[in-house]
Amino acid sequence: MIEIKTEAEIAKMREAGLVVGQTLELLRSAAQPGVSTGELDAIAEQHIRDSGAVPSFKGYQGFPASICASINDEIVHGIPDRFRVLRDGDIISLDCGAIVDGWHGDAAITVPVGAVAPELHRLLAVCEEALWQGIGAARLGGRLTDISHAIEIFIRAQGRYGIVEEYGGHGIGSRMHQDPHLLNYGRPGRGPRLVKGMALAVEPMINIGSRKTKVLGDDWTVVTEDGSCSAHFEHTFTLTEDGPWVLTALDGGTARLGRDAAAVSS
Ligand code: MG
Ligand code: MG
Repeated sequence: MIEIKTEAEIAKMREAGLVVGQTLELLRSAAQPGVSTGELDAIAEQHIRDSGAVPSFKGYQGFPASICASINDEIVHGIPDRFRVLRDGDIISLDCGAIVDGWHGDAAITVPVGAVAPELHRLLAVCEEALWQGIGAARLGGRLTDISHAIEIFIRAQGRYGIVEEYGGHGIGSRMHQDPHLLNYGRPGRGPRLVKGMALAVEPMINIGSRKTKVLGDDWTVVTEDGSCSAHFEHTFTLTEDGPWVLTALDGGTARLGRDAAAVSS
């Protein structure tokens, strides 16, 4: 069952999305050499709660923190730890969720820590643009896998990146994870029709090496099987007659989507 949101419910999701977007900007600045992932988690939780929102990750299926912090070969679901300190040259995926009046926002960025290798900068740029290509392919009346296909063809055109297949995007609304599941690869024109009131979290994950993954002994942290570095970007968006409205982007997505973006960002 795909949950169709009212305009008032989407407005609540925008409030949650702005809290998530602001939190990630704080974390982007704070992710410096010498800072621990536990400190980043504390910054995030403080900001989310100060904003009158609730951190959705904390306690989700027993997850102990308000963000996921995944360094280098960690793809997603890394657990923040005050003994895990960032080093110059690392990349870190920061994934964050917040709830306002029962409505969710979910987004992630991967950022460089200090000075990182050129191939890591490129990994991040390709993954982030793949996210925007996916969102930009969504149209009212189109199909879910139009997004999947746009993500895949963009990445494939950039080189030999491994596209993670075990994890993907999802519907979002009154719960963080809802139907439908959204793959980051595949043929276009399939799956549910995209209609007004749907909200989706799009989240490509790509590796410098093989697409293959494994889960560490903490039962959370997903890493690349070959130890290569991985990037992850995510936004929550909905569709309007004017185009995608990216609920977790501070500008609603206008800068990255250009005229495809909804003019309703506020
Ligand atoms: Mg997320
Ligand atoms: Mg998500």
